[in-house]
Amino acid sequence: MAAKYVYFFGDGKADGKAEMKNLLGGKGANLAEMTSIGLPVPPGFTISTEVCTEFYKNERNYPAGLAKEVAANLTKVEKLMGKKFGDPKNPLLVSVRSGARASMPGMMDTILNLGLNDVTVHGIISQSKDERFAYDAYRRFVQMYSDVVMGMDKGILEHLLEQKKEAKGVHLDTELSAADWKELVGKFKEKIKKHLGQNFPEDPQEQLWGAIGAVFGSWMNQRAITYRKLNSIPADWGTAVNVQAMVFGNMGDDCATGVAFTRDPSTGKNYFYGEYLVNAQGEDVVAGIRTPQPINRANGNDSKLPSMEEVMPECYTQLAKIRGILENHYRDMQDIEFTIEKGKLFMLQTRNGKRTAKAAIKIAVDMVGEGLIDEKTAVQRVVPAQLDQLLHPSLDPKAKKKLIAKGLPASPGAACGQVVFTADEAEAAAKIGLKVILVRVETSPEDIHGMHAAQGILTARGGMTSHAAVVARGMGKCCVAGCGEIKVNYGAESFAAKGDVVVKKGDVITLDGSTGEVMLGEVPTVPPELTGDFGTLMEWVDKFRKLKVRTNADTPHDAKVAREFGAEGIGLCRTEHMFFEADRIAAVREMILAEDLDGRKRALAKILPMQKGDFIGIFREMKGLPVTIRLLDPPLHEFLPHEDKDIDALAKTMGVSVQALKNKVEFLHEFNPMLGHRGCRLGITFPEIYDLQVQAIMEAACELNKNEGFAIVPEIMIPLVAVVEELKRLRESAVRVCEEVMGRYGVKIDYLIGTMIELPRAALTADEIAKEAEFFSFGTNDLTQTTFGLSRDDAGKFLPFYVESNLLPEDPFVTLDQGGVGQLVRIGCEKGRATRKNLKVGICGEHGGDPESVIFCHKTGLDYVSCSPFRVPIARLAAAHAAIGETTDLTK
Ligand code: ADP
Ligand code: MG
Ligand code: MG
Repeated sequence: MAAKYVYFFGDGKADGKAEMKNLLGGKGANLAEMTSIGLPVPPGFTISTEVCTEFYKNERNYPAGLAKEVAANLTKVEKLMGKKFGDPKNPLLVSVRSGARASMPGMMDTILNLGLNDVTVHGIISQSKDERFAYDAYRRFVQMYSDVVMGMDKGILEHLLEQKKEAKGVHLDTELSAADWKELVGKFKEKIKKHLGQNFPEDPQEQLWGAIGAVFGSWMNQRAITYRKLNSIPADWGTAVNVQAMVFGNMGDDCATGVAFTRDPSTGKNYFYGEYLVNAQGEDVVAGIRTPQPINRANGNDSKLPSMEEVMPECYTQLAKIRGILENHYRDMQDIEFTIEKGKLFMLQTRNGKRTAKAAIKIAVDMVGEGLIDEKTAVQRVVPAQLDQLLHPSLDPKAKKKLIAKGLPASPGAACGQVVFTADEAEAAAKIGLKVILVRVETSPEDIHGMHAAQGILTARGGMTSHAAVVARGMGKCCVAGCGEIKVNYGAESFAAKGDVVVKKGDVITLDGSTGEVMLGEVPTVPPELTGDFGTLMEWVDKFRKLKVRTNADTPHDAKVAREFGAEGIGLCRTEHMFFEADRIAAVREMILAEDLDGRKRALAKILPMQKGDFIGIFREMKGLPVTIRLLDPPLHEFLPHEDKDIDALAKTMGVSVQALKNKVEFLHEFNPMLGHRGCRLGITFPEIYDLQVQAIMEAACELNKNEGFAIVPEIMIPLVAVVEELKRLRESAVRVCEEVMGRYGVKIDYLIGTMIELPRAALTADEIAKEAEFFSFGTNDLTQTTFGLSRDDAGKFLPFYVESNLLPEDPFVTLDQGGVGQLVRIGCEKGRATRKNLKVGICGEHGGDPESVIFCHKTGLDYVSCSPFRVPIARLAAAHAAIGETTDLTK
């Protein structure tokens, strides 16, 4: 049988279904599904994504047989509609719509009213008895088609339209007459001919194939490529093309068009949320040309504009019923498009709605309660990386705020930064580490890179379903949209707000995406809410995951925060951070600069009680959970002053000459500190430093055990081991100190001695090393540096370029390089366990909080990951996803 390229839907029957998203794209698959479950969908057909793939494989030629299939399916649509494509008396008009597997909002443009020409327009007039409508539809078609298919600068035609309105002294499109539109259609075509040197196509077949070609062509346009890159969508998926009979929301006051979500996409609240416009077509609702009206008064919507429920009660009731049908059918929150033609409701699209993290959690938890989904599905419905939005502070409700405007709460969270007015400026500012808020009249797909770089987005126009709102929610970025109270002046690089405030480029503002408030200056924030639905979901998460999640914490405060986030121990406590504290750096420097062993010991004796105090604080906070403490790691010169004035001051307090101190600093200077005298190499050359640290750890543990009955199992971790002999020697020393301390206190503490695996040699000889180590912790930051042979401090000069030009799929310091570094982790883990079966294995690099890397760690059989406190819930959720298996990303 010949390949099938085209899939029909109409009159309650469809060739496709929801599961065929890969082949039909999301839009096509769901149009088919809605048709089959009996919803009113205008008939049409979908040209599959396979055709797109073939198209690009065969130098932009269509597969043989496609034309015939398209013709046959068009005939079917004609029959159902009782109209004929190109017919002068009763012409069928269609829309040509793109639709990929993953939704790509605004990436590819839809063409409406296709099939109109100077002849068929008369057919539309005689059928609709509405000349104005017919010419309005016609001019829209000429505008869209010339822009999307022919590459006409749309500004030129818009300018003609503006001129016309000016000449007539009117402001709104709706004030133009049939004759005006008719005249404009002629002028548009002339201008197109003049600018492009070609005629606007009159032949409907030519129009149809032009549009189909443009949709497939748009798959490779720059906007689409950028969007795919940002969202990790492969280029070979391709897009489908949907050709669908037109229905008209712009034939009068008994017509309308709208978009809705079956639940609130911002908060997740279970009420029907949407916007519509009477006598409007297609994108009018989201384009920000007219202010959309609410579909109902749910959730206290007090818009002054009449709701659809009030204006069109029958259609509203039908739509509300469809809301229920869709949710029951898809068992998820839906994002829908509808049009009402002369009092008759049509569904034009449904898809799983994008939502904020907050909404994702509420909807998932609510739907379990409603019996729509089970707990496992609920866990899968929340994207780990997206939790980030919830784990960060929001605006302190008690803080003083200088409110300068209020817009729509389009995407929650708080953001603060300097104002910029273009996407390029936002990107440039972010590159040099500035925090910025992107302020636009409205955003378009060309602004995506700037939205990505900004902390938050503020727009003057557009509703909750505008481009800015939808994209920001997808990115998890704070957004205030449709803020009509601000007047943006791009020319002056400023915007005016309430009370004569003028905010200039570079001024700091704060946005609250949960309330829509815009404030002047920086506003203080409060910690996130971790109970309620969040708590419920995290309980389910913990039921499914197998991997343990610890935290990297150096202070009792961090330890406390992490425990509240659900950390099950400390995977990395860096002792050097304690050395930097203002009150002890003097003693540390004294120790480093001491001339001999005695001098060093004297200085270390001053440090001992302070270190012990630190460990007591942390052990107490962790209440018996495991704590891994890494002995001193960085090269000593990091603790010394480098500026002349600081050296002078230190020389004075130490009573040594400036020159002597300078010599010492010079002596300790390293060319490649990352590869230098650090980690266990310090312990080998200055054993008394590690002895002191071990003593402090054990005394802290013994005291808490003896005085307060704490059960503590300290894990003493020796960094940067390359050969087993290093570890053997340091271990003997540590054991001696531990035994001595326990003897002195007369208590028995279980303790472990282990190592970090952060050099390739250590991973490759892990079987040897495991003889001396009771646990391994993969220090994947250093392991990435040493495997790639690059220093993170210098990599900024080329690494971003590598990622941009696809030499590397991702920054290996963010997402673990599974092919290289990951192999060393796997080898280290296997070899280590071959020697010591019960070897505890974890990872403590920053990768411990990266969802993809967490999934890798699960698969590799690690016991735990350790990450920064704020990422603990993300890692827990990622670990649950890893255990459950596949997940669906509903943010995309
Ligand atoms: P997008 O993917 O950007 O949402 P769509 O293909 O959904 O693009 O179409 C853009 C707009 O045109 C939407 O508002 C949609 O409802 C409307 N539209 C598409 N096809 C038709 C049609 N056959 N009749 C009426 N409106 C349509
Ligand atoms: Mg759409
Ligand atoms: Mg390290």
